[in-house]
Amino acid sequence: MVTRARTIAVVGAGWAGLSAAVRLVDAGHRVTVFDAARDVGGRARAFNWQPPQMPPERLDNGQHIMIGAYREMLELLRHVGCPPETVLRREPLTLIDSRGLHFKAGRLFAPLHLLSGMLFARGLTLADRLAMARLMMRARRAHFRIGADRSVEAWLLEQRQPASLIARVWAPLCVAALNTPMHIASAQIFLNVLRDSLGAERGASDFLLPTTPLDQIVPAHATRYLQAHGATLALGQLVERIDLTDTGVSIRLREEEMRFDGLIAAVAAHRIKALIGHLPGTAWAKLATLCDGFHWQPITTIYLYYDEALALPAAMMALEEKPLEGAFGQWLFARGALGGNPRSVAVVISAEGRHRDVDGAELERMVARQLRNQAGITAHLVAAQTVTEKRATFAAVPGLLRPNNQTPSPHIALAGDYTESDYPATLEGALRSGRIAAGLLVKTLRQGSD
Ligand SMILES: Cc1cc2nc3c(=O)[nH]c(=O)nc-3n(C[C@H](O)[C@H](O)[C@H](O)COP(=O)(O)OP(=O)(O)OC[C@H]3O[C@@H](n4cnc5c(N)ncnc54)[C@H](O)[C@@H]3O)c2cc1C
Repeated sequence: MVTRARTIAVVGAGWAGLSAAVRLVDAGHRVTVFDAARDVGGRARAFNWQPPQMPPERLDNGQHIMIGAYREMLELLRHVGCPPETVLRREPLTLIDSRGLHFKAGRLFAPLHLLSGMLFARGLTLADRLAMARLMMRARRAHFRIGADRSVEAWLLEQRQPASLIARVWAPLCVAALNTPMHIASAQIFLNVLRDSLGAERGASDFLLPTTPLDQIVPAHATRYLQAHGATLALGQLVERIDLTDTGVSIRLREEEMRFDGLIAAVAAHRIKALIGHLPGTAWAKLATLCDGFHWQPITTIYLYYDEALALPAAMMALEEKPLEGAFGQWLFARGALGGNPRSVAVVISAEGRHRDVDGAELERMVARQLRNQAGITAHLVAAQTVTEKRATFAAVPGLLRPNNQTPSPHIALAGDYTESDYPATLEGALRSGRIAAGLLVKTLRQGSD
């Protein structure tokens, strides 16, 4: 129950900011959401594109996948009036690669669904399958905790995982989940993801594949919900700095200053310093330095368009990455199977690597060649569009320090995928952080008015 409706600014209309704003209007507050961009969605958004001689469409700034363990996302979608099945296709965890690997989680109860999947996986040797099952059982017995954190690669070697299994299963899973190469990725964060997906109930490891552009998932529905609940969306408005006042906060926009009772900063970590770096005192300085200290990893998505509809064996398959031979693609998505143009595919290259040295058009040609060799796509390439997000996610490295959602002022809370959590940078982490930040602010504002 609200004692008094307060005015609250949410800076950033990514998934974290939208999640926070929904919780704030639910608590009865008057919310204004600011974003420097003209569209909501932040790093999970869509844009218009017109492939030559084909109808215009909306492309994502990068192919995303979600999993059944994203409980916050599923709950939020229902809450804002979007049945998840209308925008996401649920399918059991399936790992198919271009070299004959076929792993599918079984229909039994957890953890037998996984064990049966591992034991009956095609395309892996018996030794590989047993090593994988052993590792998962050992991790489960240890409650998915390791002592001192180390790299995923070091941990897998300690666990005596065969090189072939690391290359075909663990390395692609690590880079897909953490967007960080396994030689620098945190084993503990990787285990946290395994715990909540492969180690949890059967549905948690299901893939939830978007069947609409990303902006039609949380962004469109949350926006509609916010507007119906009296919130204001101020898009194309860069917040230049945040200051504290006697009773709350003020924000500086290009041409005006506005005052609020409270604020949630829901911008990416590297944007925090510009907003709060000038605030006096060591606590603010420490926070600004912590947020500025993240290292970043890119994600490139290459959309390829062909002269005919494509028939691919699965909506999503792993490609064999051979950087020395110019085969950089890691995952292939059949867009036709996911509600998109059936003449197109999306190829994802996560994390840093040699592909970053190759010019865009050349990279598109190389990926098309890889698809000819590995996925049997012989149709003629007619167009391509590449999107690289240089700061797609923070690098999920061992011993990473992350700020929690509180700040030195009770009037300001932080939301964003980078805030304290045991997850890597994910949509789910962003949404959870929004709920936590909103809860903190609602509580302190209520205390202030008692
Ligand atoms: C290509 C790509 C693929 C990904 N794949 C997956 C995936 O498969 N699964 C998954 O779970 N996650 C994935 N992620 C990660 C996921 O997209 C992010 O974790 C999530 O979107 C982060 O949301 P956020 O709200 O914390 O931050 P952001 O999305 O960065 O939102 C911050 C917002 O703040 C705005 N802003 C910044 N500064 C200011 C300012 N001064 N004033 C006003 N506005 C400001 C920005 O414009 C932005 O809209 C992927 C990310 C990328 C880029």
